[in-house]
Amino acid sequence: MSQDHGSSVDTDAVRRRLEAERSELLSKAGPPTVSNPLTPDERDSDEADAAVSTDLRERAMWLAEDTRQKIEMIEQALQRLERGVYSRCESCGGTINPERLEALPYATQCIRCQKQAEHQGRRQSRGRNHADG
Ligand SMILES: [Zn+2]
Repeated sequence: MSQDHGSSVDTDAVRRRLEAERSELLSKAGPPTVSNPLTPDERDSDEADAAVSTDLRERAMWLAEDTRQKIEMIEQALQRLERGVYSRCESCGGTINPERLEALPYATQCIRCQKQAEHQGRRQSRGRNHADG
């Protein structure tokens, strides 16, 4: 079946792409696996090992945060697909350029609104960093 509406977005392809990306992210975002418990023989590398595991833990946490955000964006995009408003700008209701969606599948605004938002965001710089670490 081919429903071709001229220059509109190929939602099937987009959905497949988003779902593939999401499952990939989810597989990465899983709990860290401790696959090799240390045997007494390996204990002479204590210090180096501790350093490495701390580094890995920090990186995993950072990745999890980043990954979670991305998964949220993907799920939003999938919902928008389902509602049939995928290529509609959330701000002005206009159509988001298909080329833009191709490059940025989770875009929720047309390029004009995006630029406006960026401009406003720069003027009123938020002083709200989550600084609790
Ligand atoms: Zn717009």
